[in-house]
Amino acid sequence: MARIGFIGLGNMGLPMAQNLLKAGHQVEGVDLNPASVERLTASGGASVETAKIAASRADVVITMLPAGKHVREVYLGANGIVENANPGTLLIDCSTIDVETAREVAAAAEARGLLMLDAPVSGGVGGAAAGTLTFMVGGSAQAFTSAQPILDKMGKTIVHAGGAGNGQAAKICNNMILGISMIAVSEAFVLAEKLGLDHQKLFDIASKASGQCWSMTTYCPVPGPVPTSPANRDYQPGFTAAMMLKDLRLAQDAAKAAGAKTELGADAARIYSAYADSGEAERDFSGIIRFIRG
Ligand code: NAD
Repeated sequence: MARIGFIGLGNMGLPMAQNLLKAGHQVEGVDLNPASVERLTASGGASVETAKIAASRADVVITMLPAGKHVREVYLGANGIVENANPGTLLIDCSTIDVETAREVAAAAEARGLLMLDAPVSGGVGGAAAGTLTFMVGGSAQAFTSAQPILDKMGKTIVHAGGAGNGQAAKICNNMILGISMIAVSEAFVLAEKLGLDHQKLFDIASKASGQCWSMTTYCPVPGPVPTSPANRDYQPGFTAAMMLKDLRLAQDAAKAAGAKTELGADAARIYSAYADSGEAERDFSGIIRFIRG
């Protein structure tokens, strides 16, 4: 069993670390928030003061941090993981961040003889707790093969997307589809309301017709048709509008840098920005339907 340093024990990181503990791994956790570390120790993990100490004695280091600037600091900073991990250590960053930072951190890690993967996830807090996350993984075949038995304990679908940064590329492309499709489904339900078409009737038809998509059938933005969707609990997250906006902005930055035309992606970023600014940043992203309804 591996000795794993786990940095970032928030909404996603804590349940992921708990699944590694359940699988028999030794997990040493680090977080700026002492309450999160206490929850890990209550589940059988250990508390470590800094990422530097955790990295210096781990076989595997996993990070689950808010954004690129945190990842850059924790990996490349003065007391960072890259400087302090022993050669051969496997580093897995599961945060959702920009492709450029992911590639820069991977290059620095590889230059020091470390194995580095970007492995962002989809599946939310529920998937993290159930161990059913989807991992989109970028990095070398050797690092991917070493990571598979660890990722298996936290996820159900694990896809090697290519070299460093390609996991992040897959994540932002996927979430750009999701942001656009949630707006599309919400606009359709609002139009149906104006035309006197019942929510359930539109669902029964569109979920079996060519309008079918995840935003309709799994995460339906109106209460009723899909009892587990956040619409049935006043749009409590779930996946917040702020996080959707973050991912749509990452996609726009990447599109600009790569010269890709993503007009609907740009519209989705603009609409989610206005929704978040209306005081709903911490509401589930499917609550956008209320903003569209006006
Ligand atoms: P979170 O804010 O709940 O957790 C982040 C944790 O990192 C916090 O506990 C924070 O204290 C800790 N942290 C920040 N800087 C640190 C540092 N320098 N050293 C140690 N700890 C530090 O966020 P989350 O919801 O767990 O999301 C984490 C990542 O996963 C994000 O990149 C997010 O976009 C992505 N993600 C989230 C979801 C979701 O549904 N929540 C789904 C898929 C992907």
